[in-house]
Amino acid sequence: MKELRWVRSNFELPVWARVRETLAMQRIYRSPWTAEEYEKQEADKQIIPESTCANCHQAVKLHRHHRYQRWVADLLGKLFYLWIARFLCPLCWRTVSYLPDFALTYRVLGPETLQRYLEGKLEQPDVRTFLDLCASYERRLQRFAPELIQTVGAGLGIPPPRSVRGLWPWLKKAGKGLRPLTRRLVTDFKIGLLKRYRCHQPAGP
Ligand SMILES: [Zn+2]
Repeated sequence: MKELRWVRSNFELPVWARVRETLAMQRIYRSPWTAEEYEKQEADKQIIPESTCANCHQAVKLHRHHRYQRWVADLLGKLFYLWIARFLCPLCWRTVSYLPDFALTYRVLGPETLQRYLEGKLEQPDVRTFLDLCASYERRLQRFAPELIQTVGAGLGIPPPRSVRGLWPWLKKAGKGLRPLTRRLVTDFKIGLLKRYRCHQPAGP
């Protein structure tokens, strides 16, 4: 448990940073890079933002607006402190950051590591390195399941499970793995896999 707290306090985004990020929007995009390639190739500098603002939905040229760093563990259990690209909309003044889909919002471990854990692949290096953290993600997933199921309903093309027990088979059936599924949840349903975040919501009128 001590180790888990250490990992959390050192690598998960602190509360003040989350508060700062509540004014920002976040998009999750399909990353052609692994975490290692992303770092080496300075991928954040290669991101081209969408031509429509995710918040105000106007066709507009988003301007680069600083960037921030966050920890991400790759599938070998290696940690990277990656730069995340951020853009500013000149019309609504909201910022939009672009998170590669190998990462989960505000979490060190990515969706594929969580999937490996849920599938019982405990010998995989990322799962082995962060076993306690994986277990805490699973507990969070189960706690959040009722809200997730209620929000998504039959939106993934298959009937939702009747209970939390059916959550993992449902998620597995609904998509080709947690990585594309998480991206879809955020894009189409404005909801994360483990939590509903303000950074996925457009601002109210
Ligand atoms: Zn805008």
